[in-house]
Amino acid sequence: MGYNVAVLPDLTLHQRVRLRKPHPCGSYEWVVVRLGADIGLECCQCGRRVLLTRRELARRIKIAPQKSAPTDETTVK
Ligand SMILES: [Zn+2]
Repeated sequence: MGYNVAVLPDLTLHQRVRLRKPHPCGSYEWVVVRLGADIGLECCQCGRRVLLTRRELARRIKIAPQKSAPTDETTVK
């Protein structure tokens, strides 16, 4: 306990991801701009950058579009 690594999909640089909550600017879409102990994301709309730990991102991420991304509705938990 305490070390519960949430499963984070494999991320690659410049990959687009969607978060559960919109940025204040209204965009759900972010681009991965840094990979490491922390994950850097840049808002697709306003360009703001944030750093999230992998665990935080795993909790906030909604979907990491992959080869065949399903529609939003099917991935809502
Ligand atoms: Zn934004």
